[in-house]
Amino acid sequence: MKLYPLRPHQVETMRLLRESFANNLKRPLVYLPTGAGKTVIAAHIIAGALDKGRRVTFVAPRINLCDQTARSLMAQGLPKPSIMQADHSWFNAGSRFQIASTQTLTRRRNSIKTDLYIIDEAHLSFKVISDIAEETDTPMIALTATPFTVGLGKIYNNLIKPTSLRGLIDNGFLTDITCYSHSKPDLIGVRTNQGEYDNKQLGERCSDAKLVGDIVSTWLKLGENRQTICFAVNVAHANFLESEFNKVGISCAVVVGSTPKEDRDEYFNSFTRKNIKILISVFVLCEGYDGDVRCLIDAAPTKSEARHTQKIGRSCRIADGKVDAIVLDHSGNMQRLGFTEDIEVEELDDGDKKESAERQEKKAKEKKEKLPKECQKCKHLKRANEHECPKCGFTPKFIENVEIEEGELVKIKGNKYSKDDKQRIFAELKGYQRERMLAGKNLTDGWVANTYKDMVGVWPKGLRDTPSQPSEQVRGFIKHKAIAWARSKNKMKNNF
Ligand SMILES: [Zn+2]
Repeated sequence: MKLYPLRPHQVETMRLLRESFANNLKRPLVYLPTGAGKTVIAAHIIAGALDKGRRVTFVAPRINLCDQTARSLMAQGLPKPSIMQADHSWFNAGSRFQIASTQTLTRRRNSIKTDLYIIDEAHLSFKVISDIAEETDTPMIALTATPFTVGLGKIYNNLIKPTSLRGLIDNGFLTDITCYSHSKPDLIGVRTNQGEYDNKQLGERCSDAKLVGDIVSTWLKLGENRQTICFAVNVAHANFLESEFNKVGISCAVVVGSTPKEDRDEYFNSFTRKNIKILISVFVLCEGYDGDVRCLIDAAPTKSEARHTQKIGRSCRIADGKVDAIVLDHSGNMQRLGFTEDIEVEELDDGDKKESAERQEKKAKEKKEKLPKECQKCKHLKRANEHECPKCGFTPKFIENVEIEEGELVKIKGNKYSKDDKQRIFAELKGYQRERMLAGKNLTDGWVANTYKDMVGVWPKGLRDTPSQPSEQVRGFIKHKAIAWARSKNKMKNNF
């Protein structure tokens, strides 16, 4: 068998795998970013096993990925495999090289003997895999770009991390991204279902006409007319985006789970030939599509670091003449979850590890410190430690201990007012207004707003109108203001 040569990080992967088996850790998980050449590695593992006379079963996450997987492994130089489906023309129970989907494996795993399982997209964590792991001693090698799933440590006993996303970018095996953060949906109050935003509610929030219009205009402004993929929340949202792009003459296609295979292949081909500019999809494009993508629009907010990482990974493959990928973030995912290169794990979760509250808090704090910041001028997302914008050179004015967040002063540290402080002060001013009203004096809402602004520095915005008992601090300020006003009035009188 003549296989593709390995790149340095792939050589290192193979070395770590041999070391793992030598140390009797026969269920390693290989953690490599999307685009790191997982198929090349799989081909080398399979070839090695077949050479030694062993039987290998490669497990794909879904039935419709088996043929594609077989083709790409053969393109790497492997012999024709058996595809484990009763009615498949390639099925051959006697073959030492099987490709199975998790569905088929669930029904027929006892009909085929194997010496090694290779589990693709292992983060999806199928029950049949954990069953096999529990009931047999058969070695398993797992592959994934996102080993964040709870409980993976129960199945796999060694995390192999030969390189990192940053390492691959720095060595020219993946491209970097240039990311802009633009208008995003208001997610306050959106329900959570099984750890993810409720899809229906999310779809409604994201299908706001102004938001969708902004996505189109931002792409026209910053997308450089590049071949683009766009992630939508659901089919309706995808269709809405398509029609808005069509209105300005941009050719798009929507690829979703129900798109027939022939149509899907046709769209992918048209995209490759540049007859289609934008492929709009829900999460489905994350599985197995590796076309030349140079711009990515993320319009689908997620809570999942794995989804976020898988999506952005679609844009980082290298290609001729490609310098970077532009990411237009309309989901807030980057600012909420961080740059994907900062989302990494050092160990597998074994499902029953109880972390101390202190450790969790420390982790959350570290994560928060790494979150990117938006350039106020050009919307480029800067790394946490960048003050000057590397894109437009804009340097925010330094205000001691304070950062500007969405045009408003927000306390970072020091003695400025936090959001909670602001709500409390506003409520107390409303309380003072009510007190005066009960005493027969009239203080207008304008007075409340003006006094608030004098005290806090900004106009009241997005605060609840729930009057409360004024504190000494607020009474003191009102007094101070009244005195200052009286003084200025006297001064005016004296001057004229
Ligand atoms: Zn900038």
